[in-house]
Amino acid sequence: MITYGVVTHGGAGSPVEFLDGCTEACEAALSLLKVGRSALDAVVEAVRILEDDGRFNAGSGSALRLDGTTIEMDAAVMDSRGYIGIVISIRDVKNPVLVARAIIETPHIALSSQGATAFARKRGFPPFRQISQYAQERHKRIERLIREGRLGEENPRWQNRNVETFWNFDAPSDKDICSCDTVGAVALDKEGILAVATSTGGASPMMMGRVGDSPMIGCGFYAGPSAAVATTGVGEEIIKKMVAKTVYDMVSQGEEIRTASEKGISMVPSNVMVGLIALSREGFAAVSNRQMAYSVRIRED
Ligand code: ASP
Repeated sequence: MITYGVVTHGGAGSPVEFLDGCTEACEAALSLLKVGRSALDAVVEAVRILEDDGRFNAGSGSALRLDGTTIEMDAAVMDSRGYIGIVISIRDVKNPVLVARAIIETPHIALSSQGATAFARKRGFPPFRQISQYAQERHKRIERLIREGRLGEENPRWQNRNVETFWNFDAPSDKDICSCDTVGAVALDKEGILAVATSTGGASPMMMGRVGDSPMIGCGFYAGPSAAVATTGVGEEIIKKMVAKTVYDMVSQGEEIRTASEKGISMVPSNVMVGLIALSREGFAAVSNRQMAYSVRIRED
């Protein structure tokens, strides 16, 4: 039986060398839980730390869109009391997860684009724009694949598709033209409340306005009395299968959490990168069909 705990991940595809980032976030969240803070506070703090890390595709490390300039970020928080906050395609803020947390205090559940950014300003989040070294390197790689006509080799959804045809940026397509590794956290607090938070710069290569699973309830995240689940990977495929809610439902119906999580992963074709973390009062899981940096801190009675 788990008394309280946290699981964090650095995204499907994230190298194990990034484990220290996930561990730092996990430890910080655990220390909040230890002193009686809520699971919601814990996941928000974990994701804020991962957003600030710069190596992960979220917050300061967010991936660039196809034009090599645009950054649009998605984040979500939810707990088993029913609190939900979602931010979609927000620009120019340091920590989308904090804005998602702030949306809980509004009459709404989700804010997108300019409205989300304007709300962030109103709530005192200053303008912030930074392209991390990792984001630049990831982008250069995408540029090279496009130049070499090999984008579809690593990104099946772009197989036989011409980037020009879908170009929806103001800048010309020849100017400039990244992969997965969103962040996420799930936590259980001493009151037995479960919570989840996700944050991402998206799954490159991406058009402007493209939205993945991370801010979509039941797809990229879900938390209820039975479990908290956060997914990562190619959002388009995760959305089609509603992976987070499907795993949640299996756990609710008595399936062991690891088995349910593995079944969730296997719903997505194996050539598509996908991963998830899940936590319940009885157990946890961290599974991916690729490498995935993750960290777990559990306290049991
Ligand atoms: N799921 C995210 C998205 O599709 C990307 C990721 O998990 O790395 O936007």
